[in-house]
Amino acid sequence: MSRLQQVTVLGATGSVGLSTLDVIARHPDRYQIFALTGFSRLSELLALCVLHSPRFAVVPEAALARGLQDDLRAAGLATQVLVGEAGLCQVAADAEVDTVVAAIVGAAGLRPTLAAVDAGKKILLANKEALVMSGALFMQAVRKSGAVLLPLDSEHNAIFQCMPGDFSRGLSQVGVRRILLTASGGPFRQTPLAELEHVSPDQACAHPNWSMGRKISVDSASMMNKGLELIEACWLFDARPDQVEVVVHPQSVIHSLVDYVDGSVLAQLGNPDMRTPIANALAWPERIDSGVAPLDLFAIARLDFEAPDEQRFPCLRLAREAVEAGNSAPAMLNAANEVAVAAFLERRIRFPQIASIIEDVLAREPVVAVNDLGAVFEADRKARGLAEQWLERNAR
Ligand code: NAD
Ligand code: MG
Repeated sequence: MSRLQQVTVLGATGSVGLSTLDVIARHPDRYQIFALTGFSRLSELLALCVLHSPRFAVVPEAALARGLQDDLRAAGLATQVLVGEAGLCQVAADAEVDTVVAAIVGAAGLRPTLAAVDAGKKILLANKEALVMSGALFMQAVRKSGAVLLPLDSEHNAIFQCMPGDFSRGLSQVGVRRILLTASGGPFRQTPLAELEHVSPDQACAHPNWSMGRKISVDSASMMNKGLELIEACWLFDARPDQVEVVVHPQSVIHSLVDYVDGSVLAQLGNPDMRTPIANALAWPERIDSGVAPLDLFAIARLDFEAPDEQRFPCLRLAREAVEAGNSAPAMLNAANEVAVAAFLERRIRFPQIASIIEDVLAREPVVAVNDLGAVFEADRKARGLAEQWLERNAR
């Protein structure tokens, strides 16, 4: 490698951000951190800056920026602190940056991720909500700028690894029949349905196989995560919704599969550790050490599969309906879900009410065409307003 790759990590203080920095720290001969961003836990952002000496750090508010800037100076660092969405977009698009890791959670990541896309960067996408919200516009922008979009989501990274290199010609052109998207089923796969009324945020966040941020953990418990991933897969691999089948696989060892017309089914396996897809995407098309332990098939011993239960997990059905409706429906689904998950984490609603809120919002607001980013944010804003109204009507 001739020169160090300059990497911006959007959402560096989060679960994916920290896993990314762990992989990067193993390869100082390849990667250099250009910018780190954080929204809360700014003492951790300071510690990460001390470790990686980035050129820039980004925080949400000017007052926080001043505090961090003083601490960085006191630590002898030349890191410059930028503020807010403008700062995020600047470090995503800077001419010196090669790779942008999009690891902010939720709709807040859309503009900075698109800034990286428009600047033609190599983008490692964890922030699935950004793609779900703006699918067609996002993929058009990728094609226009020539950005390289690589999936970090473990399932999509697995599918990417099992696809032929020229899959962008079209799935039928390259002999792909179906994508099999695996799901762990989360912590409530076997919980008696009546008990779901009483589960706590901490129970919902106790994922059996993965350690993740709280929002995606709740999404995994409701299987909305798989619904968002279904939509994500349709855009990344230009698949129709009926070409993507969800398979519940409780061990999370197979991260997804691709089914070919000749009957071959290719799978990617590995320990459930995000450092594997992160290392794969960082070094692609090469391979580098990720720090993940080798897979011990004898210890795993068996792999189980079952069909998803849409009665238990209505969010999966709602996401399928949203991707079939297209246009503004996925942005509304995502926004209603973000409001509902935040309300559940604040103990304002019960777990099954997450799906009730999303269903109510989607039933109230007609689906409209989204021809520009303004229309995406308008759909997002309307759905958030309707979800807040639901919360006011139904405060528990
Ligand atoms: P997290 O909550 O641990 O981290 C989120 C990061 O985003 C933090 O750095 C936080 O400071 C930042 N952030 C939060 N709100 C922000 C805002 N309004 N503006 C700017 N920054 C903000 O979440 P995570 O688990 O790391 O997930 C990040 C993204 O990756 C999500 O979209 C998630 O769906 C996706 N993802 C995560 C995993 C995983 O294993 N954690 C796996 C696949 C995909
Ligand atoms: Mg995933």
